[in-house]
Formats: sequence, C-alpha cells, structure tokens
Amino acid sequence: MSASSNASAARAWVEIDLPAIDRNVGRIKQALPPHVRYVAVVKADAYGHGMPEVATRLLQAGVDCFAVANVAEAAKLREVGHDADILLLSPTLPNELPRALALGLDVTLNSLEEAQAVATAVAKSGLKAKVHVKVDTGMGRAGVWHEQAAELFAFVQADAAFEWRGVYTHFSDADSDAAYTAGQRTIFLTLLERIPSTVRAGLMIHADNSAGLESFSASAPFNAVRVGLMQYGLPPSTGSFLASLRPEPVLSFHARVVLVKDLPAGTAVSYNRTKILSRPTRVAIVAVGYGDGVPTAASNRGFFLVRGQRCPILGRVTMDQTIVDVTDVPSVVVGDIATILGAQGADRITVAEFCAWADCIPWEALCTLTQRVQRVYRTDRT
Ligand SMILES: *Cc1c(COP(=O)(O)O)cnc(C)c1O
Repeated sequence: MSASSNASAARAWVEIDLPAIDRNVGRIKQALPPHVRYVAVVKADAYGHGMPEVATRLLQAGVDCFAVANVAEAAKLREVGHDADILLLSPTLPNELPRALALGLDVTLNSLEEAQAVATAVAKSGLKAKVHVKVDTGMGRAGVWHEQAAELFAFVQADAAFEWRGVYTHFSDADSDAAYTAGQRTIFLTLLERIPSTVRAGLMIHADNSAGLESFSASAPFNAVRVGLMQYGLPPSTGSFLASLRPEPVLSFHARVVLVKDLPAGTAVSYNRTKILSRPTRVAIVAVGYGDGVPTAASNRGFFLVRGQRCPILGRVTMDQTIVDVTDVPSVVVGDIATILGAQGADRITVAEFCAWADCIPWEALCTLTQRVQRVYRTDRT
C-alpha cells in the first residue's frame, strides 16, 4: 500500500495524488472547446485538499485562473506567489474592498449597493476595480435578481471606476434537474442581449459549475467554466457525459489502528451504548473521529478498510477515536492502516458510499476534513 510509505509517522492523514489532478484537468479541458477559459475553484482550502499545493498544481496542469469565496482565501493565494486572476465568488463587505483592490482581485458585484461601495473604494484608493456582475437566475442566493440586472449593467458600464470583465450566473440544480437548469440558462442568455454587443464581446461569460458541464453548449456565448468538484475527481452525478470523463479521486483518507483487543459478547461499545456486541469480538481502535472529519452519522453504519477488508464501525464515532470490528480480519496489529476513503487492497470506499453513511454531500465530505488531519502530497507518476 502506497499510503504507508508516505506517512509513516502520522496518526491520521489524507493523501493527495497530485498527478491525478493533471489527468482530471486534462480530461475536462479536452471535453471543452479550446477558447473556453478554465476557472479553477479552490475555495475552502481547495475543497479540503490544501490550497497552496493544489493551486500550484492546477496552474501547471493548465487552468487559466482561480475562484475563491472571499478576500482572505485570495490573499493566501497571492502569498504563495500566484499572480493569476482570482475571482471572488461571494459578495464582498465594504471593509474588505481596499484589500481586494490592492490584491488586484476580480470582485463580484451582486447589487447596485455593492457596486456603489466598490466605486467609493476606487475613488479612495485610485485603483480601478476589475468586476464580474453576477445574476441570480433562480438560485436565490448571491447575484442581482435578473429582473434588476439591466440597471446594474448600465451602472457598471457608465462608471470609469470599473473594468468590466465578466458576467455570470450560478445553477441551483444542475446535478439533478436539466429542465430547470435550461430555464436558468435561457433567462441568462436573454439578459445578455441587454448588454451592447461591443461591450459583451470583451466579457467573460460563464454559468457552468461541474454539474453544469453536463449541458454545456459550445455554440452558446459561454467562454468560461468554473470547475470545482470534477477536478478533484468526483463527478457531481452519474450523468452520462461527466461520468464518461472518468475523473479520478485525488484524495484518500487514512488513519492508524492504535489498539486491538478482544471483548466478550454483551459488551456495550462507545458513548451511550448504542452497540451491544452479539458475539465475542475483536475490535480495533482507530485514531480518527469527528474531530478529524468522520461524522457521527456514520456511527453503526459506515465501514473502514483494514487489511483490505471492510470492517463495520461499532457504536458512536467519537472525537478522536472510532471502533471497528476486526473479528474476521486475521492478524490486525497496532500500526495497521485503516482507510476511511479510497482504495486499500482490491476494495475501495468511494466518496458516494461515505456520503450515504455520513448523511452528507460530496463537497461537504471533503470540506469537513479538519486541520488535524495531515496532508501528504504524492508527486510521483502512477
Ligand atoms: C463552488 C462554486 C462553483 C464550483 O462548483 P462545483 O460544483 O464544485 O464544480 C462554481 N461556481 C460558484 C459560484 C461556486 O460557488
């Protein structure tokens, strides 16, 4: 198992397969027309994978620019020396604007009020603002409601404070409702006609997240995509096109067995005694818990792989430790690796499976891996 060689000293770690990022980006780029810009979404510490390392690898793999949630995340990218464009996906608070301008970030405008605050910050700093206007076409979250968007377009176009670089929308249901997504796309396309064609020709026009790629149309005016989940190797749905690209999971999650012992039938295991052993049982205590990113929802439901075999979680997942049944796995010893996500031997625990036990979505499973879990980066070709 490659996992052991890289992390011999760790109790719990995730292994990040950097060459898998190259392959995923390559597959996604190949599926897109060459003029389409690839905005790599690296918010939330690159979906738990570790932002500096992953962002650097993404750039090497050929992405065009980055998107993050906020100014603090963008500042981190600038600190490690990336001067690529960085788009802020969330609304920016007035007090954050001076820093956003100083760092040369692409600010998303979600309202006339926000645009006015940006114009004020520009007047104070003397630095022009690079902006994308975000339109709410049925997500009900960020962005100017589409019926009020034309007014914001006109404001941005008229004021010299702005360098207008892009316009975009965000899909709410691209992973499960093609008709609703098509409706959002139509509202957005109709709205684009309100922008003079000479101005429109210079804009980045984007709508698609990973799931949106399923219905991406090269003939539309779209000339950029915002890719998160897919580049980390997870198709947002089992849809034919995206699944056919066969993205490879980049992250796997492992921890050490720290104690092995035999318990008699009838023993209550872990907090609140939710599991009573029905047979004499050999248990392994694994050094990972909800303090690392294994949700308590997986209690009595999930499995870890030990020595290539599925071992059921017994009782409650606790903050630092999880107990698994190794009665049927011969010769488990302290120091063995338990795999929570990923392959071990001939078996694999997928993120989809983990999410079913943990009652969460793939994005969440990755983001809730905590800082206590060491990140180990594999750079070798596999
Ligand atoms: C997070 C985010 C994305 C990336 O979505 P994935 O489903 O992970 O590809 C794209 N656009 C916006 C506005 C986002 O907030």
